[in-house]
Amino acid sequence: MTPSTAADAVAAAAAHVDAGTGSGDVGALLDRHGRVATDLRVSLTDRCNLRCQYCMPAEGLEWLPTDETLSDAEVVRLVRIAVQRLGVHQVRLTGGEPLLRRGLVGLVAEIAALRPRPQIAMTTNALGLARSAQALSDAGLDRVNVSLDTVRPDTFEHMTRRDRLADVVAGLEAAAAARLTPVKVNAVLMRGANEDQAGELLRWCLDRGYQLRIIEQMPLDAQHAWNREQMVTAAETLERLEAEFDLTPTGRLRGSAPAEEFLVDGGPATVGVIASVTRPFCGDCDRVRLTADGQVRNCLFAREESDLRAALRSGAGDDEIARRWQTAMWGKRPGHGIDDPRFLQPVRPMSAIGG
Ligand code: SAM
Ligand code: SF4
Repeated sequence: MTPSTAADAVAAAAAHVDAGTGSGDVGALLDRHGRVATDLRVSLTDRCNLRCQYCMPAEGLEWLPTDETLSDAEVVRLVRIAVQRLGVHQVRLTGGEPLLRRGLVGLVAEIAALRPRPQIAMTTNALGLARSAQALSDAGLDRVNVSLDTVRPDTFEHMTRRDRLADVVAGLEAAAAARLTPVKVNAVLMRGANEDQAGELLRWCLDRGYQLRIIEQMPLDAQHAWNREQMVTAAETLERLEAEFDLTPTGRLRGSAPAEEFLVDGGPATVGVIASVTRPFCGDCDRVRLTADGQVRNCLFAREESDLRAALRSGAGDDEIARRWQTAMWGKRPGHGIDDPRFLQPVRPMSAIGG
């Protein structure tokens, strides 16, 4: 039976999570379409040291003032509530660039000390990861996804507006050495920049044991320059890859994992293609996002947010915060609606939401 009110939903969700944990003091992040969010993306900062064209303008953005950014203690408290009361079991640290967050190693250690212990992953551009990968791994970080769109220095500089390819490559090597595995590489293809480099990037990743996933560019850039006609579709990407490799679907059900996976030249190596725009996976979405200033977003493309920072700072208890969080999730829309003519790009760009 589909629950008809938030209260019914929370009760149903509590039973759902209870079944998994054996604990009595739990609810879940359920929405009115029956989805349960268990994967929390936490943005640790909106700042970044790259300026990827599909994300940020060359001049950067107006960064959040420090006093509006959640402190380490506030981040850990919200993650604890999510893990212990709301059924979250995977925490992904992101940004902006999460490696720019001071105290990152300590934050990871505190999240890893929670019980039940969540899986902890990080999405990063890897600048500086060469220095911190081992400490992060020792603190409890399980895996990283490194964003890398090209292995050509000139294309890298064009797309990110910084000459830092060598640092990313060093960061990837350090991640593998520190066993932050499987090391995944996330790439976005942009027309006129790197759309012809998918095969080259895949070969480079295969040689090093990294798992490549190519993601369709979404309308989340601060400059609002995204254009559906210009976008490199997953179908086009696959066509290009198939000209160089033999790809066979792994046959794994996509579920809430957005990548469609293919064995490359018979396997065991795989490549993933994420068709966020042309074949959205909203119906199976299990994600919820917390911005660096403490706003819950139930979707990347949400136009409403719920202010947990205000609740925290006005003395709300854990129960009250958990309830607000559940209410925020209940209103999640069924899909992102990018193809709907009435689609409105969210006010916050990707870097300020947490990708
Ligand atoms: N700075 C880190 C990084 O780049 O990995 C973490 C934050 S970044 C916003 C997270 C991911 O979002 C990256 O993999 C990036 O490629 C992706 N991203 C940013 N803007 C995007 C867009 N408009 N469409 C699709 N993916 C985007
Ligand atoms: Fe920075 Fe990541 Fe955005 Fe690139 S995609 S500008 S690395 S936040």
